[in-house]
Formats: sequence, structure tokens, C-alpha cells
Amino acid sequence: MSEVRHHQFDLPEDRPASFDETGHRVYIHPSDTKGPWRLRRTVLYAVLLVIFLVLPWVRLNGHQALLLDVAHRRFAVFGLTFWAHDAPMLLFVIGGFAISLLFATAVLGRVWCGWACPQTVFIDMVFRRIEGWVEGKPHERRKLDLAPMSAGKAARKGVKWALFTAAALVIAHSFLAYFVGTEELMRMVRTSPAENPASFLVMLGAAGITLFDFGWFREQFCMVACPYGRLQSVLMDETSLAPLYDVKRGEPRKFTPGVANDKVGDCISCYRCVQVCPTGVDIRRGVQLECVACTACIDACDEVMDKLKKPHGLIRYDSITGMQGEKRSFSIRSVLYFAILCVILVGLGTAVATRKPYQMTINRAPDAAYAVLSGGDVVNHLRLHMANQTFESELVTLRLADHVGRYKIVMAKNVLPLVAGESSTTDVFITFDPAMLDHGTRAATLEAVSARGALLASVDVKLLGPEDGHAHDSDHEKEHD
Ligand code: SF4
Ligand code: SF4
Repeated sequence: MSEVRHHQFDLPEDRPASFDETGHRVYIHPSDTKGPWRLRRTVLYAVLLVIFLVLPWVRLNGHQALLLDVAHRRFAVFGLTFWAHDAPMLLFVIGGFAISLLFATAVLGRVWCGWACPQTVFIDMVFRRIEGWVEGKPHERRKLDLAPMSAGKAARKGVKWALFTAAALVIAHSFLAYFVGTEELMRMVRTSPAENPASFLVMLGAAGITLFDFGWFREQFCMVACPYGRLQSVLMDETSLAPLYDVKRGEPRKFTPGVANDKVGDCISCYRCVQVCPTGVDIRRGVQLECVACTACIDACDEVMDKLKKPHGLIRYDSITGMQGEKRSFSIRSVLYFAILCVILVGLGTAVATRKPYQMTINRAPDAAYAVLSGGDVVNHLRLHMANQTFESELVTLRLADHVGRYKIVMAKNVLPLVAGESSTTDVFITFDPAMLDHGTRAATLEAVSARGALLASVDVKLLGPEDGHAHDSDHEKEHD
């Protein structure tokens, strides 16, 4: 039995509006809106679109501003470089992002989905615009979808999907640049796919998914695939902001059976709020999983209220408590999220501020504390541990700072290769004139210097030798205590 609908946009009660009675997909063509919320969104989307596409090409401190090179386990985040062994710091970053999202959701509702999610931005700014240019206004697009296949329809659909494919390829390449780096991406673009079959397949896969999702799947992704979308009901509470319909003011709406027209509320049942919704929601039925807080329905309803000469805000961005006339407040959960976020940010700031690009530690080797050579010089055997946390490999030489006297540093290799992102332990023998000792000891600083002469790192070292500064036979091999 077919269902009874009083209006084209009277949505079904028992299923999402994006499915028909038989379970087939109903493609949503939301109408355009004008108004302050639309303007804010357009400006923000334009900025985000540029950021998403251009960010991988921006370089800071000689590195890609944002690089997530999972394959080589190296990450660059706005001038800072991390390796897989920096996982604790990455945990701070990921934890900070997750808690920010929880905090933003608890206070501002689903603001990420409607205002910053790349899917929303690309669909609104690129794919829906292409659709509008090729297939016309929303009502024309609906008509075209329902029309039988013809040469004209096939041509329009063909052009649309060709432009969609071009857009998806650009987005997929930008997406890939975040993970392989722009230099590697350009190298791959210039060479035959046969030389980079894996990366080529990843790019094709990313373009295919983008095309499928942004071109066709759209709001279904938010409803069935996005874990964040499905968590909304537990992340939001009565104090969270959301686009809400003012039931007290709007109801009973016009055309409510059995209610005289002079007794109705401000809602005139024009369905404008439903027509503009990109996810097929009738917000008058309350907060729903499909609502991505895009605020299109607010602008649409405010336009209607303007025509009726009634105040704005029948649908407005407010909290449930705000709708009940209470003053804006924050839940304990929001305060807790904020406190945790502050702790994470302080921890991250401290970790970043104290992080050194090169780490250098030194230990005494587990043999004699010192030995005296036949010529009278003293030798100390040390074990040097160095880590290179940058993205550039270095050739390192060692020296003692501050002209401590005559000395020589001997290693297996005179120049120590320090590979980017790796650490190494090396035996170091420092031979020196015992005259520099004071009561058998001398504080010194061991410095690691790059091939360009730059000081990379330094560490304090205590040189040990005979107490009176002279070599005795009995001193030839003093056990380390
Ligand atoms: S746009 Fe406003 S007046 Fe029109 S149906 Fe929606 S809530 Fe009612
Ligand atoms: S209900 Fe309103 S805010 Fe929610 S998705 Fe639809 S138009 Fe956007």
C-alpha cells in the first residue's frame, strides 16, 4: 500500500527521507538558501577548501607543513618533525584532537559536520555546484532524475560525471600528498604508473572513493559510515547548541487537522526548511541523527518569517535548555572536557618545547674507568648514544669544547653517520694529556658537529685519570667503581 503524503516534502516517518518505500535510494537535491548563516558558511568553506588543497604544498622550516608519511613512519606537523618513536607525543596530538572534538560537540553540537568536515566542504563547494551548472536548479535536477533516459539526459549526466571525476582526481592527488609528500607525489606524476603501481592504485582507490562518496553516497556516509555521526546522541546534551525548532512558538502549525487557522502558531507548513536540508531532515520533528547542523533550515525559515513580518528564530541555533527559556549554561561534561583539553595542551606544549632535534647521551663503558697509555696519555672509554629526530641524515664529528688541552677522539669511524629518524650507539675513546686533570678528574663538554660545522648537540662528560695527574705503573688499568 502506497503511503499518504500531504506535500511533496512531507517526509516519511518510518525511514530516512533518502530511501523510498522499497528501500531504493532517493537522491536529495536541496534548494539553495540566502542569509547570514549561508554567508558565514560560504566564507568558511572557501577558506577551508583552499587550506585542504594547498596545505600539503606549504613548507615550514624546509618541511611540508603537514605530512603524515605512515609508510616511512615520519610525520611533520607545522614545522615540527616526529618519528614513530615519538608516539607518546603523537598520542598528545591525537588525544588533543579527539578531546577538542568532544568539547566542541558538547558545547556547539555537530559543528564539525556542518562547518568543517572535508566531505561537507567539498560536496557543497565543488560537487553540488558542478551539479547545479550542468543539471540546473534543484527542481530541474529532480525532474531530470525522474525523466526516462534520453540523449539529452545521458549527455548531461556524462558531462557531470566527467567533471566529478576531474574534481575527484584533483582531491585524491592532494589527499595523497599528505601521506607521501609533495616531492614524491610530483615524482610519481612524472613517471609511468608501472613504476609506482602501489601508489598509483592507492591514488585510483582514493579518487574512486571520493567520486563515489562526494558524487553519489553523500549524506548516507554521515548516516551509516561515519563513527562520529553515530556518536552524536551520547556526545550532546541539553546544553549543546543545535539548529532547533521552537515548538512552543510554531505549533500547532498551519493545516493541522481540527485547528482553526486563527489558532495556529507561526509555522505555516511551507516546508522550506525541509526543501533546503541536504540530509533530508524535517527539523520540526526534533534533533535527528541525520542533521549535520548546517543551519540551512535557519536561513530558510528566517526568510519565510521576513515575508510574514514575524521575528526570526522559529528555527534557531540554540540549546534545549535555551529553548525552554533558561540561561545558557555548560554541562559538567563540557567543563571536564575543557579541563582535560587544557592538561593535554600543557603536556603537548611542554613536550614540544623540551624536545631536541638531536639527542645525545653518554655512559662510561663497563671496563676500566681509565687506562694510561705507554706514552703517558690517559684514555677513557665511553659509549655514546645519539638519536637524529630530524628528516635529514648528518655526518657527525665529535670535539671537546673550551680548549681543554691536548686530546684525541677515536671511534670506529672518524665521521659518524647519523641517519634521519634513527639512533645509534658508538664506542668513543678520548685520549688526553693527564696534565689537564685536577685531582684525577676534569669536567668537559663533548660536542657533536655536523659536516657543515653546525653544533648539533652536546653532553657533559667527566674525564677520569690518575689523581696526581701523572701516570704510574699501578694506574695502567684502574677498575671503574
Ligand atoms: S520554514 Fe519555518 S514556517 Fe516553513 S515549514 Fe519550516 S518551520 Fe514552518
Ligand atoms: S535539519 Fe537544518 S541544520 Fe540539520 S542538516 Fe537539515 S538543514 Fe542542516
